Amino acid sequence: MYLGINEAFDLRSNYIIYIIHKSGAKIVGFQLPEGLKKKGFKLAKKVEESTGAEVLIYGDPCFGACDLNRTLIEHVDILFHFGHAGLGDMKLSDKVYFIEARSLVDIGHVVEKAVPELKGQIIGLITTVQHVHKLMEACAIIETRGKTCVIGHGDSRIAYPGQVLGCNFSAARAEKCNEYLYIGSGDFHPLGVALSTKKRVLVADPFSGEVREIDPSKILRQRSAVIAKSLDAEVFGIIVSSKSGQKRLELAFFLKECAKRHGKDAYLILMDLVTPEQLLLFKVDAFVNTACPRLAVDEIGRFQSPMLTPQEFEIVLGEREWDRLVLDEITTEPI
Ligand code: SF4
Repeated sequence: MYLGINEAFDLRSNYIIYIIHKSGAKIVGFQLPEGLKKKGFKLAKKVEESTGAEVLIYGDPCFGACDLNRTLIEHVDILFHFGHAGLGDMKLSDKVYFIEARSLVDIGHVVEKAVPELKGQIIGLITTVQHVHKLMEACAIIETRGKTCVIGHGDSRIAYPGQVLGCNFSAARAEKCNEYLYIGSGDFHPLGVALSTKKRVLVADPFSGEVREIDPSKILRQRSAVIAKSLDAEVFGIIVSSKSGQKRLELAFFLKECAKRHGKDAYLILMDLVTPEQLLLFKVDAFVNTACPRLAVDEIGRFQSPMLTPQEFEIVLGEREWDRLVLDEITTEPI
């Protein structure tokens, strides 16, 4: 019997109430990712009834800890940001508390199921913040079967050993191993690890109980097609995010300089939420995205012009070899 994905996270309501009582906060903000928004009203009701504080729920989309909302912070005494760990390279305000929404699901059964599928001797364990507290348990299960586990420490952006973000796979690269076991749901993070390390990645999904191997070939074909479509492009729109943890202005300037050196036109476009609709009026041959690295991949085909990652742009300009195609990351390491 598996817990459904919506019932499975600890939102720490008693801790939130304790912090509000202790601080004497009168107005608090909730910033929830899309997957947890539907829980906002129930939680706000409980918190308001227990503390007398007003809760302001932020309605705009929120995709990561990179996206702490400054306006909300200005209007509240405390901001509770749900579903993500803080980013080590970004501290916006002391008012912010991260409620990481740790998973309550058992991982033992799915790790047991994955063990016979592991081919290597040294297994790198990786996951999202939702399951980082379960990695030692997974390690114990695997090591009783005669294998060795390693759990890497990522760069300064990463809060926990073994934790990966959609824009940072440094924890996977930190330790030598033969292959990886990713504990969690979804394909994006394990795909990024597979492309970044060129190693086999097995997914053990504790929500569905499924074990599967990641096949990066489809995404490589898709990304190669986007590059191929952009090879003759003359005019580029370089997107820069105004979100605090996604803003890569220096990279954008650098890419613009590269474009110039190659005789291309490039324009910088600063925006908060990057959507196909907001880009419709910018007539370019291709976009280059320096905002959230997931955008170009998750939203493929939705923009009126191809959207390249910075690394793909380098390939288009001839500054990077095709076989060095990787997913974009926001990391302190060169990729
Ligand atoms: S930049 Fe994108 S992948 Fe990275 S933390 Fe923010 S939302 Fe997640």
